[in-house]
This record gives sequence, structure tokens and C-alpha cells, in this order.
Amino acid sequence: MFTHHFVGGIIFTLFLNYSPRIFLTGAILGAMPDILNFPFRLAKGREFKVDKWCHLHRNPINHSLLMNIVCSLGVYLVIKSCENSLVNPNHPSLAVLFVLSSHPLLDTIGLGWGVKLFYPFSNKYYKLFYKGKLVTIWTEEEQEAEAEKYGQDDWLWSIALNPRTTIGKSEWLSILGLIWFLVILPLMGK
Ligand SMILES: [Zn+2]
Repeated sequence: MFTHHFVGGIIFTLFLNYSPRIFLTGAILGAMPDILNFPFRLAKGREFKVDKWCHLHRNPINHSLLMNIVCSLGVYLVIKSCENSLVNPNHPSLAVLFVLSSHPLLDTIGLGWGVKLFYPFSNKYYKLFYKGKLVTIWTEEEQEAEAEKYGQDDWLWSIALNPRTTIGKSEWLSILGLIWFLVILPLMGK
């Protein structure tokens, strides 16, 4: 959730230097794979599940590392008339690549049940640091069963925004970071 926005804003700032507009662009791009879920959600209607840690909101296309690399190359092609090269640290497409790739990677360690990192080459879900294991790999059926068994319907308040959980701490710190970069610093004239 807010972690995606914060990390996206930080990455854009590291690559392109801070301004409220640069940070905001990175923050929006950081959550883009989730924002792109809404058309899929509308299309699926009532069948679309968001319970049990939101595990099914992550459709494979916009949470695939490959897809995010392809999108970033698309950005590069659009702006290739710029003088900068792809390896220039200030080049926007490199920042876009890192921001878009950060999203599925954060989803493997944060809230939920992993993502299909290597879709369309693999249909498996990848989850990191789960129950003491570095990498857990599930089929769709295995992931469904795990979410059904251990997921919580009130995940938003009991986990995601609960300051006593690690995920909750990272979300609240990200909210504070967003306020700092998008409200406080602009008010200070930065
Ligand atoms: Zn996501």
C-alpha cells in the first residue's frame, strides 16, 4: 500500500533529484501495478476477491517483473530522442524501471501471498521470508488453500495498518515519509 508510494518516490528522487513533482510521479508509479488492477476488478465483478490479505488482487500481467521491464523499455523508446542514454543515472526510463520493478518485489515480502514474478514464463507464485523459509513457491491452488487457511478478512486493520505488526510499522512510516516529502518540504519551500 503506502510502502509502494514511498519507495517509488524515494527511487525517483535518487535518480532524478528531489522536487515535489518528481517525488509525486515516483509515488504514483510505485503503486501503478495495483492501480491497473481496477479495470480487471471491474471486469470480474463480484467474483473478484480482495479478502484474505488481498491475495487475488494481483493479476499476473502487471505484477510480472518481465512486464514491468517491457513497460520501462516502452518509456525509453518514447523519450529516446532525449540526449541521455539508458545508462545515464538521470535517465527517467531507468528510474521507471526500478520503480515498477520494486512493486512486485515488495509484494513478495509484504502483505499477501506473493506474486507471479516470472509470468508468462512461470505461473507460480513467489513469496519471500514466509514461515522461516527464504523462498516459498506456490501453484494457484496451493496459494488459494494457504490464503483460505491463514488469511484474515479484516487484513486491512488487523495487519496492514496495525502498528504492532512489522507490515503495519512499515506502512505508517511510509505515510509519515509521504507527508514529509509531499507536504512538509514543499511548505518549507524545498
Ligand atoms: Zn501489488
